[in-house]
Amino acid sequence: MGENLNLFTSTQHVINDALSKLGYTEEMYELLKEPIRMLTVRIPVRMDDGSIKVFTGYRAQHNDAVGPTKGGVRFHPEVDEEEVKALSMWMSLKCGIVDLPYGGGKGGIICDPRTMSFTELEKLSRGYVRAISQIVGPTKDIPAPDVYTNSQIMAWMMDEYSRLRENDSPGFITGKPIVLGGSQGREKATAQGVTICIDQAAKKRGIDIKGARVVIQGFGNAGSFLAKFMHDAGAKVIAISDAHGALHDPAGLDIDYLLDRRDSFGTVTTLFENTISNKELLELECDILVPAAISNQITEENVYDIKASIVVEAANGPTTFEATRILSERGILLVPDVLASAGGVTVSYFEWVQNNQGYYWTEEEVNEKLHAKLVEAFNNVYETSQNRRVNMRLAAYMVGARKMAEASRFRGWV
Ligand code: NAD
Repeated sequence: MGENLNLFTSTQHVINDALSKLGYTEEMYELLKEPIRMLTVRIPVRMDDGSIKVFTGYRAQHNDAVGPTKGGVRFHPEVDEEEVKALSMWMSLKCGIVDLPYGGGKGGIICDPRTMSFTELEKLSRGYVRAISQIVGPTKDIPAPDVYTNSQIMAWMMDEYSRLRENDSPGFITGKPIVLGGSQGREKATAQGVTICIDQAAKKRGIDIKGARVVIQGFGNAGSFLAKFMHDAGAKVIAISDAHGALHDPAGLDIDYLLDRRDSFGTVTTLFENTISNKELLELECDILVPAAISNQITEENVYDIKASIVVEAANGPTTFEATRILSERGILLVPDVLASAGGVTVSYFEWVQNNQGYYWTEEEVNEKLHAKLVEAFNNVYETSQNRRVNMRLAAYMVGARKMAEASRFRGWV
């Protein structure tokens, strides 16, 4: 709870800094400092043992001046209101940075899907859609997968929404199975986006990806595809980790072998005896460090031990705001989460576009469009950071916040 409150207030501080650097008044900050809409719902579900359990869920919509809001739904025991609010604000920033016609939204349900049956999960997913149906829709607010939700859950949610509206509505939600209107390339999109940011950052620092030493924390959806892309590009992935520990080989790990052996929760290190800790992994000598697991990993406590030249945040919130300042003082280039992990929402946008037009693109077309969007976003943020002499996080917030602020101003809201 404390950590999430901290996440929310730190996000507010950086938005405030970004808006004042851009010359906006206090009134603009008043509008953007919180979601414009926050719905709390209670969802009764008849469990397999016959008992009724009532779950709490949330949907936050940060700002819809640019267009409908967009953002994932998280199923996790530690979901709370502050976290959902902060994540919806990050989604607004991401959409602004990659220049998508959306504002940010986010949802969550307090539950532990690892202990629930398939039937219970389906009832919960459908119950959530019924509870929030008034404020969501293809032109209002478009959900997507997030932590512990997947394409099956998106399919149930889409089906429930379509039944309620008596209309087939694939554009209501993204991250669907391909057969129900999902997009090619969506599964690997976040890792693709991180790879594009790594390439751009390496160019700025004169690092050749071929032979570069890469360390990745986390071997789930984001981390494992990224390891594969880096390995295939000729980089040396010298360490990876999961929740149980880390593997390190200065000569480079056999990524294809590890991918074959990892389970669906992104666990692989338990198969090996010679492991190091996640703390040691973060402090390894390397060129590129990618936190791709959980938040609050690079903090005031270990920031002086980070030896990478470039840190690229695939995870949401892995570096505290104070540690960001210190990394920047130490001359380490940090590519912030709101830019580096925006590949997922970008391909979600492509999915929605394809649903609206009823015509579908190949994986090559999707990847080409993703590449163009992210290179432009990276360069925009990098140039802002150079011209305004601010770190990449503040520069990214400036780019993202400017779009929301301008749209709000033209609408006459502020
Ligand atoms: P995932 O659940 O597929 O994998 C998470 C990985 O992190 C697993 O390997 C797990 O073992 C590891 N992990 C868990 N706790 C850990 C700990 N304490 N220390 C070290 N490793 C730990 O998740 P994912 O989809 O790969 O997401 C990873 C991060 O990327 C999250 O912060 C998520 O919000 C962010 N992200 C993901 C996407 C996406 O499309 N998948 C998009 C944007 C941001």
